[in-house]
Amino acid sequence: MELTMPINVHTESYYAATTNNMQAFPRLEDSLEADVCIVGGGFTGLSSALHLAQSGLKVILLEAEKVGWGASGRNGGQVGVAQRQDQYWLEDKLGKDLARQLWDLSVLSVDLVKELITKHNIDCDWTPGLLHAAYKKSHVEEYQQETEKLQSEYGFEHVRFVDENEIKSLLGTDKYYGGQLDSYSGHLHPLNFAIGLADAAHNAGAQIFEGSRVTGYQPGKEVVVTTEHGQVKAKKLILGCNGYLGKLAPKVAGKIMPINNFILATEPLSENEKEAIIRDNLCVADSKFVVNYFRFSRDNRLLFGGGETYSSQFPKDIKGFVRKHMLDIYPQLESKKIDYGWGGTLAITLNRMPHFERLNNNIYVMQGYSGHGVALATLAGKVVCDAINGNLSDFDAFATVPTHTFPGGTLLRYPGMVAGMLYYSMLDKLPG
Ligand SMILES: Cc1cc2nc3c(=O)[nH]c(=O)nc-3n(C[C@H](O)[C@H](O)[C@H](O)COP(=O)(O)OP(=O)(O)OC[C@H]3O[C@@H](n4cnc5c(N)ncnc54)[C@H](O)[C@@H]3O)c2cc1C
Repeated sequence: MELTMPINVHTESYYAATTNNMQAFPRLEDSLEADVCIVGGGFTGLSSALHLAQSGLKVILLEAEKVGWGASGRNGGQVGVAQRQDQYWLEDKLGKDLARQLWDLSVLSVDLVKELITKHNIDCDWTPGLLHAAYKKSHVEEYQQETEKLQSEYGFEHVRFVDENEIKSLLGTDKYYGGQLDSYSGHLHPLNFAIGLADAAHNAGAQIFEGSRVTGYQPGKEVVVTTEHGQVKAKKLILGCNGYLGKLAPKVAGKIMPINNFILATEPLSENEKEAIIRDNLCVADSKFVVNYFRFSRDNRLLFGGGETYSSQFPKDIKGFVRKHMLDIYPQLESKKIDYGWGGTLAITLNRMPHFERLNNNIYVMQGYSGHGVALATLAGKVVCDAINGNLSDFDAFATVPTHTFPGGTLLRYPGMVAGMLYYSMLDKLPG
């Protein structure tokens, strides 16, 4: 049978312009059977495919566009330990044991990313060092206390507190008052990481189809998954669609809200200019509610993420939209050309913890990483593989965290949430 190679392309971005050689995967045009069918070719789906295929199961992954087309191929590339909520929140809301398990899983998620890069020889610019930067004076003490807690109670020696003088010498800006330096976490080229995961999954025996949007599925002892040109009958189904889930699974769509976030890439800077902006090739995430996050690319471009929107529309001028956030931190970059500007859609949950759920005992949902998914979505693939092979402990650690449905469900979640988000983003502008 002749295979159709779909012509879907990645959204224009610095990442899409610098991808490693990428194999094209065919469109599904057949009726196939599998042990596990996976919907979505981002980190969640690709890591699931890799781990499940390695465990000996017959796996089929269906991606509507191209592998890494979604948030996984467009994000800030920051790979950090911890959950999106800190250990104080986790201990308070979930108790010390579960808080500990979720911390350990977060460290494991970063270990897993590093291990996969090494094991599968993925060329994706891994660079250690993540600096959390306090945008307000009042945030400095929180970083100091948290650093002490992680060192003394969690035995995590890879973080240290950074005072105002030091942060000013690390970052060529007077906008930050202190922070926390984590030498265990780091950054990478996310689209090349996704492509590497797809190659590894394919080599392990997973069948990957691109240009194969799932239009619906019929639950049952075997789930029947339908695309425009084919179908897959599988014992288990994994939904890894995150911010792009749309109307595919109304039962879990209300647990997340899709939001858009944006990044620019400057023209390449000189070595001296680069060192004056960020020392030691760190990546940086600040403490604003609408986080600024930035780092340098392999070819010395500043990749700066900032600003988000809550409607289905992206701003017309993404470069200009993000540039104002960059100039707030680095006015000295006023004259630099912006070569790329792009956006992507991620999914947040009400409490900012990932939403893991099992439906009908054989449909697994992992989504809502709330902007912290590079490592956690990769981990989700390992965790769901363990669950499908009978060890539910880690899946259930995530699944037992209560994730509430957005008030108003998918229809009405926007107005209230948007008002809330705008309120908090306004607080970013106040001194404190
Ligand atoms: C601009 C931006 C910056 C970010 N920065 C960071 C960061 O620095 N660090 C961090 O940890 N996290 C960051 N994130 C979040 C992170 O990218 C996500 O949490 C993570 O990539 C989620 O992976 P995923 O596989 O679950 O979803 P995605 O990568 O979005 O993949 C979902 C896939 O499902 C496919 N799909 C959807 N519906 C269907 C269907 N019906 N049929 C077939 N396929 C379908 C989509 O085409 C898509 O490819 C950022 C996100 C964005 C948008």
